[in-house]
Amino acid sequence: MKADTGKYGIKPFRLIAATKNKGKLEEIAQLLAQLPCELVSMEQIGLVDDIVESGSTFEENALIKAKSIWKVTGEAVLADDSGLEVDYLDGAPGIYSARYGGDGATDTDKNRKLLDALKGVPADKRSARFVCAIALIFEDGSDLSVRGVCEGYIAAEPAGSNGFGYDPLFYVPEFGMTIAQMDSDIKNSISHRGNALRKVAKELERILLEDTVK
Ligand code: IMP
Repeated sequence: MKADTGKYGIKPFRLIAATKNKGKLEEIAQLLAQLPCELVSMEQIGLVDDIVESGSTFEENALIKAKSIWKVTGEAVLADDSGLEVDYLDGAPGIYSARYGGDGATDTDKNRKLLDALKGVPADKRSARFVCAIALIFEDGSDLSVRGVCEGYIAAEPAGSNGFGYDPLFYVPEFGMTIAQMDSDIKNSISHRGNALRKVAKELERILLEDTVK
């Protein structure tokens, strides 16, 4: 996961990704591949404990995760928090997306609960978005955060088998299909996490280039 340093002329710095999810790690590595950072996972550095997400926004939760790892390691950390906001439900399940349906609820249970909550709601009132906040904290404790979104609608029934979570219900009109019906390349090109990671890459590049010319 090491990247070329030529353009920046600086030694690669280690960036700890605050996730245990292999899919997310791959996506992060892919989108930050051009930058001089060596991405390491929590597991690679022996961090196994779950971090309690006690914030009230995606941004707060991402920063809580990043800070708790930075406090232990003193190294640069990238953390994300994501979920689904449904307008008709005043933004629910939002930061509670993973816990929607209670302990032990499967993705199918969560999707069923969402469909029940939207029973009888017409297609044009089912607008929703996936949100992903990413927080970056640097060695010196300074931080930045970005938000990526993906807009769509909650379908009347699940369709497709790719992806995870709410993907089978999340319909994207521009593509005429749910995210679970898309190839992963297409999903990554429009997804909330992809959009947030592209912003992170831009921000990091800007910071690194500023440092180089100083
Ligand atoms: P987390 O940020 O990985 O904790 O994600 C929170 C929850 O939001 C997940 O458990 C999923 O239910 C939902 N979610 C986040 N991103 C996606 C996605 O890309 N597709 C489908 N569901 C997602």
